[in-house]
Amino acid sequence: MRDSYGADIVFINPGDRKYIYQELGSDYSAIEPPFWIAAISAYLRNNGYDVAVIDINAESITSEELVRKVEQIKPLLIAVIVYSSQPSASTQNMTIAENICKVLKEAVVCKVAMGGLHPSALPEQTLKEEAVDFVIEGEGQYTLMSLIDVLKSNSTNFAQVPGLWYHDSGEIKNNPVAPLSDNLCELLPVAAWDLLPMDKYKAHNWHCFDNIEHRVPYGAIYTSLGCPYGCIFCCINALYGKPGIRFRSPEIVLKEITLLVEKYNIHNLKIIDELFVLNKKHYMAIVDMLVQRGYGLNIWAYARVDTIEPENLKRMKLAGINWLALGIESANPEIRDGVSKRMRLKDIKSVVRTIQDEGIRVIGNYMFGLPDDTLDSMQETLDMSMDLNCEFANFYCAMAYPGSKLYEIAVSKNWQLPKRWADYSQHSYEMISLPTKHISAVEVLKFRDDAFHKYFENPSYLMMIESKFGIRVRKHIEEMTKTRLKRRLLEEVDLSLNTNG
Ligand code: SF4
Repeated sequence: MRDSYGADIVFINPGDRKYIYQELGSDYSAIEPPFWIAAISAYLRNNGYDVAVIDINAESITSEELVRKVEQIKPLLIAVIVYSSQPSASTQNMTIAENICKVLKEAVVCKVAMGGLHPSALPEQTLKEEAVDFVIEGEGQYTLMSLIDVLKSNSTNFAQVPGLWYHDSGEIKNNPVAPLSDNLCELLPVAAWDLLPMDKYKAHNWHCFDNIEHRVPYGAIYTSLGCPYGCIFCCINALYGKPGIRFRSPEIVLKEITLLVEKYNIHNLKIIDELFVLNKKHYMAIVDMLVQRGYGLNIWAYARVDTIEPENLKRMKLAGINWLALGIESANPEIRDGVSKRMRLKDIKSVVRTIQDEGIRVIGNYMFGLPDDTLDSMQETLDMSMDLNCEFANFYCAMAYPGSKLYEIAVSKNWQLPKRWADYSQHSYEMISLPTKHISAVEVLKFRDDAFHKYFENPSYLMMIESKFGIRVRKHIEEMTKTRLKRRLLEEVDLSLNTNG
């Protein structure tokens, strides 16, 4: 049996940037390394398994090339992992993942499993709808190791494989997920970066505003998993089954960053953690070690307005943390509370300015179409964003992502949801946003798309950008705003207005 296959497992990272981001896909968005796949690969390798990785998202390979590669690797098991360092992106990658599984099931004689955040949120539906033999619910390390062992022994007894969904004599069966392990040193060792096409990854445009021509190479790592909060629009904890946070040791994080710097010459680094700036003991230990090493990194990470501790900012900047993304979401405290974003904000503006005073740039993340939003409250949010005038801003529509409470509400209330998983992408043509208690999905989407242009075309914003980053970056942004996303939802309304005279 050993000679009949070449690797125990090949991981596939699906992605279709052109569809997901439209014209913004090619130039402005990042191409992120699939840290999760690389970390599970390292875990399996450390346990004696042969592993390969194909990153379709980074390499943009065709179906024919994919089949050829898989045939060369001759794996015992194919695992398509629908995961992304942006949690909501798992769902939008499901459509391309579906196609990949279909192609592989037709062309290759091999078992196919699907795992990741979306399949963990909807495991039964995924097994029913997709061309796969197995669905992995949960993190996957223990499931895959046990599944490979069963397949190697030529058995079809999957009853002991934790977190596995499978078909058995025409029935769908599943096994309980393995308990979450706190031993992240074992579960999340230094990732198998050597299995990835490291020259293909590229940072976001804004992350490199200080050096816009140098977005490659790019690294992305976790220092912790999960989030203790439970915002209703967020699906992050679907993979872990409940809110909570577990930490990697600062030593292993430093070891990983050192490898990225020394072997792959990486300076642009994303800390993927949902909330890096939360537990001071954890994040400041990493910061202190990075200050000592002096790698000259360009890091971005997530924080909340209410987790910022001003006295730590100076050292964070020294460690290379040049950007902090803040989930501000809404200007209106009641609307924030309505989605369980329970932060008491004395003064968002003073927190933003305190961060900026230390030379750290701020990415403000805002959301339109939260359940209690009205046109007025969304305008308040846009006004606040323009007043804060952060170095970058992301404007999202609230979406019902599988794994979030909002998805359960949307399904129970029969709200119109996108027909294809790919159209859960914030930027796709077919995207359908959610209505609120007061306004329609069309109003929300139109407001969001207009807000994007108002913010980035605002003369105060452009002047601030030019004074901080130079004329080249200003021109880059002006070029970016020439692209207006096409939206079927909005075209349909235009059409009906035209038809109605
Ligand atoms: S704070 Fe809320 S939105 Fe942010 S990761 Fe945690 S649950 Fe998700």
